Amino acid sequence: MKGYTGKILLVDLGTGESEVQAVDDAVYENLLSGVGLGAWYLYRNIPAGADPLGPDNILGFTSGLLTGTGSVMTGRWMAVCKSPLTGGWGDSNCGGSLAPAIKHCGFDAIFFRGISPRPVYAYVDNKGVQLRDASACWGLDAVESEERLVAECWAAKKPAVAAIGPAAERLSLISGISNDLGRYAARSGVGAVMGSKRLKALVLAGTKAIRGEDPEAVKNLSKAYSRTMRLVNMPAFLKGAVLPLMGAALGAVKVAYSLDGMVSAMMFKRWGTAMNSTYGMTNGDAPLKNWGGSNADYSFKYYHHLNPDRVLARESRKYHCYSCVLGCGGVCDIKDLGKGEYAHTHKPEYETIMAFGGLMMNKNLDSIFYINELMNRAGFDTISAAGAVAFAIECYENGILSKEDTGGLELRWGDSEAIIALLRMMIAREGLGDLLADGVKRAAERIGKGSERYAVHVGGQELPMHDPKIDPMLGVTYAADPTPGRHTTSGGLYYSTSFLWTRVSWLPRFKIHPKAEDYEPSERGALENVAMTSFKMLIDGAGACYYAMLTGVPHFRIFEYLNAATGWTKSPDEYMEIGKRIQTLRQLFGIKQGYDPRKVRIHDRAAGRPPLKDGHNKGLFLRTEEMIPYYWKAWGWDEASGIPTEATLRGLGLDELLAEEAVHA
Ligand code: SF4
Repeated sequence: MKGYTGKILLVDLGTGESEVQAVDDAVYENLLSGVGLGAWYLYRNIPAGADPLGPDNILGFTSGLLTGTGSVMTGRWMAVCKSPLTGGWGDSNCGGSLAPAIKHCGFDAIFFRGISPRPVYAYVDNKGVQLRDASACWGLDAVESEERLVAECWAAKKPAVAAIGPAAERLSLISGISNDLGRYAARSGVGAVMGSKRLKALVLAGTKAIRGEDPEAVKNLSKAYSRTMRLVNMPAFLKGAVLPLMGAALGAVKVAYSLDGMVSAMMFKRWGTAMNSTYGMTNGDAPLKNWGGSNADYSFKYYHHLNPDRVLARESRKYHCYSCVLGCGGVCDIKDLGKGEYAHTHKPEYETIMAFGGLMMNKNLDSIFYINELMNRAGFDTISAAGAVAFAIECYENGILSKEDTGGLELRWGDSEAIIALLRMMIAREGLGDLLADGVKRAAERIGKGSERYAVHVGGQELPMHDPKIDPMLGVTYAADPTPGRHTTSGGLYYSTSFLWTRVSWLPRFKIHPKAEDYEPSERGALENVAMTSFKMLIDGAGACYYAMLTGVPHFRIFEYLNAATGWTKSPDEYMEIGKRIQTLRQLFGIKQGYDPRKVRIHDRAAGRPPLKDGHNKGLFLRTEEMIPYYWKAWGWDEASGIPTEATLRGLGLDELLAEEAVHA
C-alpha cells in the first residue's frame, strides 16, 4: 500500500445513491491526495457556472496522502467545493481526528453532490455509506450535534464526526464545518455548502488499516522530528510579557533574514497561536480598528489584557490533532463565563483573539473566550464574523447605520456586550444580523451609502489578522491566490523559515537583504512566492500541518516522507512540480466557474491606500497590482489575465490529466 487507498466514495444526496470509484495511480503521482485529489475531482465534475448552493456543487472531505502512515504532523483534512463567498475555488483546512477516519473507512475522499429532500447525516463504515434521518439534530449547535451523534453511533470504536451548526443550516456564507467539538474548517463558506445540501453531519466509523510502502523509513523520520520537537522548549523564565518586546525588536529590524523554524515552534508549543496576540501588536502584523487604526490606537493599556499567559491560565489540558507532536491546541475552562452556559472551549486561536480583540478595540479577554464558544457552536468563521461586526461598528460610527437599523443596539468600539448581542442577531439571522451573516461584501452591497469603504475583504472573503503591509508577498497571495484573502498559503515570513532553497534546484540561496527590496515588484519575489505556494500545496496534499511547514524542510522532511510512504523516488524538484500542478488546477477551477482573477483587488486599507499616519506601519503601502503580473508569469500563466497558458498546461501534463475539460489562454 502506498499510503493512499486508491478509492473515493461518491454520494448523491438527491437520489440517495452512492458509488465507490477507483482512482488511477497517475492522479496521486501527479496531484497527491488532499487538496490535489479534491481539485482534480471537482474540476472535472462541477459544471461551469454551477450555483454554489445548488445541487451541482460538490462538497468533498479529503484526507492527506501521508495521513495514517506513521508520519507525524499529518492529521489535517480539507473541505473542498465551489465557494459561495467568492464564486471560485473553495477549500478549508482542519485538524482533529477526521482525516485518518476518512481513510479508516477505505477512502481518500468522500464527495457529496445533490440536495437531500430532508436533513440527513451520512454514516460511513467498512461496509459503505448510509444516509440517516437527522431531523433530531437539525437546529442543534455543532457541538451538541457531534456529542449526540457520537453517542448514537459509537460501536466498535468512537466515530469521528464533522457537523454544522445553525449558521450553516441558515446558509450563512461565512459558516464552516466543525469536528472534535469545535475545531473548524472555517473558510470559503464551506459550511453553507453543507447546509444547502441538508447534510447535517458526516459520521466516520471505519476500522480499515492504512499503511505506507516503507513503514520503517516513515517511523525513523517521525522519530527524528519528534526528538527535535521534544528538545525545543521556551525557557521557563520567559513569560508572555516578553512577547511584545520581541515583536517590537524584530519589527524594527530593517533587513529580511531567515530564522530556524523551530524558534516559532517553541512559542507555539508553549502558548499556541495566542502567542501572536501581543507579539503581532508591536511588529505591525495585527490589523486594528477594522484595519483603519494602528497600534497607536490600541496601545499597551489595551493589549496587555491579551497577554497569552492570561489565555494559558484558563487552559485545563493541551490538545493535539491526530499524530501531532507539537500540540498548539488546548481546552479551556470557561464555566464562570456567560452564567455557566458553557463549560469548555477550545483555546481561542490568534485569529479569533485579534479579530474580536484589536479589530474591534475590545480588551475584554473573557468576552473573547465566550465569543469563541458561541461562534464554534453556531458554526461561524470567526475571522469573517468579526470582520462583519467591525464593519457594522464603523458604519454606525459614521452614521450609515442608525439605532433603528441595529434593533436598538449602540454599536461602539470595544463594547463587548453589544458585540455579543450583534453576533446573536447574526446567528438568528434577525434584522441587521441577517445582512451581516453573509459577510461584508454582500452587506455593503445591500446597505449602500458608501459603506463599501469599511467592508474589508478581497474577492468576497474577509481578511485574516495579518497585515500585508509588513509582508508584501502576503498581499499578492491575498489578491491573487484562487482562494483570495488566505493567510496560510504563502508569504515572505513563511518562505524565510522554509529553507526551500537548500533543496530545490531552481531557487537561489536566500540572502539577507533590505526589507525595502521586498516592496519592489520583482522576478525574485514572484519566484519565491511560487515556490512557497507550491510547497504549501504539497503540505495540503500530504495532509500535513501548516505549523510543521513553518518548521522548514531541514526538520519536517516532507520529500523523504512522501518517498518512504509511496515507494516513489521523486526529487524535491519533482515534488515542487506537483505543487505547481495543484495550484494551476485550483486556478483553472475558478476560471472555469467564471471567476475573473483580474477583477480581484486587494482592499485599500490592507494595501495602505492611503498609508497609516501613525503606529508601526506608518507610511507603508503596497504595489500589489504591479507585483501580480510577475507572479502570474512565474507560474506560467498569462501575465495579463492570470489564465494558465497552453504551454504550461502541456508542461505540467494537465492537458492529459483533465482531457477535454482543459481550458487555457
Ligand atoms: S500544531 Fe496545532 S494545528 Fe497543527 S496538528 Fe498540532 S495541534 Fe493541530
